[in-house]
Amino acid sequence: MERNFHCPFCHGQLCVNQRVILSALNEDGQRGLVLLTPELGDYKALKHPSFKVKEGQHVDFFCPICHNNLIVEKKDEKFTRVMMLELGEEYEVLFSQIAGEKSTYVIGENSVRTYGKDAHEFTNFWGETPSY
Ligand SMILES: [Zn+2]
Repeated sequence: MERNFHCPFCHGQLCVNQRVILSALNEDGQRGLVLLTPELGDYKALKHPSFKVKEGQHVDFFCPICHNNLIVEKKDEKFTRVMMLELGEEYEVLFSQIAGEKSTYVIGENSVRTYGKDAHEFTNFWGETPSY
């Protein structure tokens, strides 16, 4: 399916060669590039081995183009937010900032989709009924 991901701040395209490229900062203050797949619910991330991300660690993500922090907070949970264009519709994609936690939310004008085994905890999280 044709999907494009862009930054909510500068609208720069984040997807290059079938990967979503983000700049990341781990809890130890180390920065690195992380490549995610555009498949929602697929949590395989590519990075250089020298950039260490430990399970359970909080990771901040930044736009690699404008360097804005992509963090959003919803009910005390911190998420990374990027925008997605799919079949002409724009969605907000939120995913957990805790390494190893598999939860992704795709929020459209009239729908919420969830992906990942940890996502169910937050069903109805947005005060609306998911449409899956
Ligand atoms: Zn940007």
